[in-house]
Amino acid sequence: MEKIAKPRGTMDVMAPEIFAWNYIERVVRGAAERCGFTEIRTPTFEEIGLFKRGVGETTDVVQKEMYTFTDKDGTVYALRPEGTASVVRAIIENGKAADTLPLKYFYLINCFRYEKPEAGRSREFVQFGCEMFGAPGAGADYTVISLADSVIRELGLKNVRLHINSIGCPKCRPKYREALVSYLRAHRDELCDTCLDRMETNPLRVLDCKNDSCKKVAQGAPRTIDHLCPECEEHFAELKSYLDACGIEYVIDPHIVRGLDYYTRTVFEFIAEGIGSQSTVCGGGRYDGLMEELGGPKMAGIGFGMGITRLILAMKQNGVEVPALAVPELYIAAMGKEAAVRGTKIVSELRRAGINADCDIMGRSLKAQMKYADKIAARYVLILGDSEIESGRAVIKEMATSEQTEVSLDGIADFLTGKRG
Ligand SMILES: [Zn+2]
Ligand SMILES: [Zn+2]
Repeated sequence: MEKIAKPRGTMDVMAPEIFAWNYIERVVRGAAERCGFTEIRTPTFEEIGLFKRGVGETTDVVQKEMYTFTDKDGTVYALRPEGTASVVRAIIENGKAADTLPLKYFYLINCFRYEKPEAGRSREFVQFGCEMFGAPGAGADYTVISLADSVIRELGLKNVRLHINSIGCPKCRPKYREALVSYLRAHRDELCDTCLDRMETNPLRVLDCKNDSCKKVAQGAPRTIDHLCPECEEHFAELKSYLDACGIEYVIDPHIVRGLDYYTRTVFEFIAEGIGSQSTVCGGGRYDGLMEELGGPKMAGIGFGMGITRLILAMKQNGVEVPALAVPELYIAAMGKEAAVRGTKIVSELRRAGINADCDIMGRSLKAQMKYADKIAARYVLILGDSEIESGRAVIKEMATSEQTEVSLDGIADFLTGKRG
């Protein structure tokens, strides 16, 4: 029969790679919960209008990258390309906006974007993100940034730096936009075709175009931080004082603008600096207008997203080893049918007592069982035969040290828990 391959830009994740995934998932959940964020799970697909309004009609995400389909009743849906719009919809729909503020949610979800697959970028990807609503002050910006920072620290990513910027608010942005557009018009010959379009619809996006010539234009472009209104300026200064006081290093980077329309004031990225390359492991910012845009009350919001595959790449760059997962504490090598049954009984009891244990279920020879015990990296091995069953005692051997201890067959759990210290 002809084989069927997975869709382009998707992944099968299994051992040993899955251990890194599991590890990162544990780290991000732990960090989010310590900051008081609770998990939110929303549908994998939503009405397309949610993303058009929540992400922005003029963005590449909405214009080019969404996976959409028409349901049998004619409704057009999209597989979620990001997490924020759904969280906002869920808050509004479930009446959570009336809860005690701030609202703090995190998610660990798969998202979908039709993009050219490359290292660290796939069409189905997993994103860790957090959202805080109802806290307009810079303390909220700091809290969200510090959550990303603690994940990055805990994962041992030493080459990652925080870049921050402020892109102003609806009050100060129009003036800045004017200055930017007139600058871009003067440099129109140096811009790529995409940017010539963007220049009129979403000029800020020209500043994060990856085209070399556009990058040069962006270098000399007017900076948002030079056009902030007094309120935006104060907010940015306050954020910096929080970061300084709490020991989180940062660089002010006027080129961080984020591609999505709804951002206001603070925008930030954590960027991994590899040899000759940079990659964003986390991007986020404030979006005080989003809740209202999606039909909810006026409510400040801030959050970030972090791609898990980018984190894995960054861990590799940093030579970070994933801490070993639970390996079997005991493997019982059984000789003969009777021993196999007794061994299985002991293993069942150990598992019920919360101990990771295993025994042969393949009818292998003793030599092959020992080889298997080695492969699964069992910490202890016990050989069980007729004489051990008769005497009720067996020798347990620590594989790393070859140290042998005689134990009662009824006392194995005690022995192993005693060794745990
Ligand atoms: Zn402003
Ligand atoms: Zn461009």
